[in-house]
Amino acid sequence: MSFQNQYLLSVYQAVCQRNAGEPEFLQAVQEVLESLDPVVKKRPDLVASGIIERLVEPERMIQFRVSWIDDKGEVRVNRGWRVQYNSAIGPYKGGLRLHPSVNASILKFLGFEQTFKNSLTGLPIGGAKGGADFNSRDKSEGEVMRFCQSFATELTKHIGADTDVPAGDIGVGSREIGYMFGQYKRLSNEFTGAFTGKSLYSGGSLVRKEATGYGLCYFVQEMLSYIKQDSLEGKTVVVSGSGNVAIYASEKAAQLGAKVVAMSDSNGYIYDENGIDLAVVKQIKEVERGRIKLYAERVPGAVYTPGCGGIWSVKCDVALPCATQNEINSEHAQQLVNNGVSVVAEGANMPCTPEAIEIFRSNHVLYSPGKASNAGGVAVSSLEMCQNSMRYSWSFEEVDAKLKEIMATIFHNAYQASEEFGHKGDLVIGANIAGFLKVAEAMKWQGVAY
Ligand code: GLU
Repeated sequence: MSFQNQYLLSVYQAVCQRNAGEPEFLQAVQEVLESLDPVVKKRPDLVASGIIERLVEPERMIQFRVSWIDDKGEVRVNRGWRVQYNSAIGPYKGGLRLHPSVNASILKFLGFEQTFKNSLTGLPIGGAKGGADFNSRDKSEGEVMRFCQSFATELTKHIGADTDVPAGDIGVGSREIGYMFGQYKRLSNEFTGAFTGKSLYSGGSLVRKEATGYGLCYFVQEMLSYIKQDSLEGKTVVVSGSGNVAIYASEKAAQLGAKVVAMSDSNGYIYDENGIDLAVVKQIKEVERGRIKLYAERVPGAVYTPGCGGIWSVKCDVALPCATQNEINSEHAQQLVNNGVSVVAEGANMPCTPEAIEIFRSNHVLYSPGKASNAGGVAVSSLEMCQNSMRYSWSFEEVDAKLKEIMATIFHNAYQASEEFGHKGDLVIGANIAGFLKVAEAMKWQGVAY
């Protein structure tokens, strides 16, 4: 893909100038703008309202110091952010990432993606993202708590159930949300749904923990059934990562009759030809917070290989990248294609490079972008907000059924948009256009000042 349209190219060039040195943000913007070519032709009114120029600029970005005291009594300083990207269709909504790699470019790309993803869910949520360059891996429980409290002390000034509702992402699970929510509640003196991903004891929703992974498999199931009259039954699956998304994608894939043979973390990957024993993975990752390497020490026949990129050399029918951005490059994509992969569905945000996507496209691999196939997490977050507002909670079965329906609808809306705008079956273009149109209509309707 490249720019066919002079107007879109000029918008992109201005974005490059204004955001120089932010490669992830530019990558995400380029992919969406390239998809909008057929929209620009059909909708001159949206061009005239300057929607695209406005959408490539976050509404608000807060950067702040997070100072805290470590176990030795020493003062430590991290940098925190909240990118309130777009509020055209609802309160800002999106996760918090705690990882040493976090910077403004990564959070802007994530906030931008979140805006389209949230729109695709059909639920009333705007887009946001936040986090800090904090590594919880080498920290004690007390250090994580003090960091989260300090982070939330600043965040509290900018969020609220009707303003901005953060949740988890890489490095942020129920433990971190608990410490942040506790601090938010102390400072605001209100028990409201200002965070999602909360514990079930404090207003959390059933299925939230499983939602991104389960939703990914529901999406794949619908895509396979509609396009190929096929299913996950009997398929060999490779899932990268071993965090929340990867664990519950593997669980649902196995429940739907597939065999998951490999998982990874940032150090390496495990291969288990008998199918991964998820109880062992959960014990290592959720209870011990250990490394995936331990799996091979505990399960006979399993093999551990250092280096996480090697996981894409494992032969599979379905690849579910659920680790992080740009984890599949062109070399990995070619390996997957050579090994006969037929489906690549993203559980992480932007895990495939543009070159990798091009390889999947030209080899007719069924490929779905994260903003469509990983939207299950934020969709159930939105259902958590709904339950909090009602001060009521739905059963596991009720939430799961809603999630399944939302994922099927996302697939069909993206597919339909791809068809309507002349690129039938291209889910990148379809998801970008369907996500864009709803936000664009809302922005146009609300007038120019953001
Ligand atoms: N971080 C998740 C995502 O990338 C979930 C966000 C949320 O639940 O607000 O969509």
